[in-house]
Amino acid sequence: MSLKLYNTLTKRIDKFVPISNKKVGVYTCGPTVYDHAHIGHWFTYVRIDTLIRLLKILDYKVDWIMNITDVGHLVSDGDDGEDKLQKGAIREGKTAWQIAQFYTNEFLEGMKELNITMPNKIVKATDHISDQIELIKKLEVKGLTYKIDDGIYFNTALFPEYSQFAQLDIDDQQAGIRVSFNSQKKNKSDFALWKFSPKKLKRDMEWNSPWGIGFPGWHIECSAMSMKYLGETFDIHTGGIDHIPVHHTNEIAQSKSITGKPLANFWLHTNHITIDNTKISKSLGNSITLSDIKNHQHSSRTIRLHVLESHYRSQSKFSYTGLNASKNRLKSWDQVAALIWQIKETTAEKNNSLNLYQKQIIDVISNDLNSPLALSIIDDSFNEIKNKYIDTISLGSLKNYLQFLDTLFGLKLLDIKDINDNNKKIIRKRIIARENKDWKLSDKLRDTLSQDGIGLIDNENITYWFYL
Ligand SMILES: [Zn+2]
Repeated sequence: MSLKLYNTLTKRIDKFVPISNKKVGVYTCGPTVYDHAHIGHWFTYVRIDTLIRLLKILDYKVDWIMNITDVGHLVSDGDDGEDKLQKGAIREGKTAWQIAQFYTNEFLEGMKELNITMPNKIVKATDHISDQIELIKKLEVKGLTYKIDDGIYFNTALFPEYSQFAQLDIDDQQAGIRVSFNSQKKNKSDFALWKFSPKKLKRDMEWNSPWGIGFPGWHIECSAMSMKYLGETFDIHTGGIDHIPVHHTNEIAQSKSITGKPLANFWLHTNHITIDNTKISKSLGNSITLSDIKNHQHSSRTIRLHVLESHYRSQSKFSYTGLNASKNRLKSWDQVAALIWQIKETTAEKNNSLNLYQKQIIDVISNDLNSPLALSIIDDSFNEIKNKYIDTISLGSLKNYLQFLDTLFGLKLLDIKDINDNNKKIIRKRIIARENKDWKLSDKLRDTLSQDGIGLIDNENITYWFYL
C-alpha cells in the first residue's frame, strides 16, 4: 500500500514519493512560546505525530525537525504590533527570555504527556539568528528587499507566483487583516525580514545585523532552519491551515527566490477545531489547555483518542461530551488489552484475523491519514475478539497486534497493569462458588471486586476481568 496525502501545493491527494528512496525529511512549524498551548495546538501536533508514526511503520527513516518560535512573531500578521514574546514578558513581569524558556519547557512536557514522538531536532529561532541574517543578505543581493523606517521588507511583487500557493486574492487577504496598512510598504503583502528595535528602547531580544540592531521577522526563521537541517528541497512541510495565506506563502516566496527550487514537495495542513462552533481564541476565553482537561478527569490517552476520532482535514468540534465518549471507547478497548494478563501462553492461534485487521488499518491510514476509519476497524477487531475469539486467540498474536496499534496511535494499550494477587484470589474463590452454584457468595465476591474497580465477563467456562 502506498501512502497518499492531500498536498496543499497541488490541491489534490497525491501519491507520496520521497526525494531519496527510504528517507523522509519533515519540517513542522512549532509553537510560539509566549503562553500556554491550547487544545487546538495539541490537535495539530497529535495529528502530525500520526503521520510521523505511519512513515516509520512504512519503513521510512524519518528526519523530523520542529521549530520553536521564541522571537519575531508579531501580534498581527501585518508585521505590526508587539512581539508576542515581549507582550508575554510584560504580562508576567518577566523577561522575554524567561517567558520563552518557561513555555518551551511546558510545551515539551505536554508533548511527552500526550505521547507525541520527540522530533529528531527541536530548533529555536533565537539559536539561528545568523542563519536568518545570511538568508536576508542573499535576498538583498538579488534585489528583492527594501528598507523602510521599521525594517527590511521582502518585495512580494518580485516573486510572480506569490499568490499561487494559497490562491490568494491579495486585496481580499489584506482587507481581512485588522491593521492599518504601513504606507511605506510597496505592496500590501510585503513582509518584514528584519525589524529594527524601536529607537530609545532596549528590547530583551535584539541582535546586531548589517541593517541595524533589531530582530528577525517570523517567516524567515522557518526558511532558515528547515533548509539548514533538511536541505533546499525536502519532503513534507506541515502546519495548521491558518499558516497557508501568510506564513507559508511567505516561507515559499523567500526560499524559492533564493534557491530557485521548491522548499517542500508536500505541504500538509491540519484544520482547526471549534468549541461551541467558534474558533478558539484567547479573547473569547475558550482556549482550553491540557491542564483544564485533566481537571475534568480526562487522561492524556483519552485526549489522544479524541483527536484521532476526526480527520485532520475536517473542522472538528471539541467538547467534554465528545471526550466522555472517547473515554468510554478507550475503556472498552482496555478490556481487550487486559487479556494479555489472562490468556494462557500456550493457547494456539486458530485464526489470523488480527493480521488481516492490521493490514486493513495500514491501508486506510495510508489513504490521507483516515484515522476515524482506522479506529472503526479497531472497534470491529476488538468486538470480534470479545465475541468470538476470546478463548482461541494466542497471547503472541494479541500482543503483536496491540504493539502495532500502540506504535501507530500511541494509546499505550500494552501499558495496562495486571490486577493484584488478592483480587486474583477473589476471582478464584468466585469461580469455585459458581461451580458450587453458590450464587449468593458469587455475587458478593463480584461486588467486592467492583468496589476495587474490577469488572468480570463470564464466558462459558472462563471468567475474564477488566477495569471498570
Ligand atoms: Zn513556520
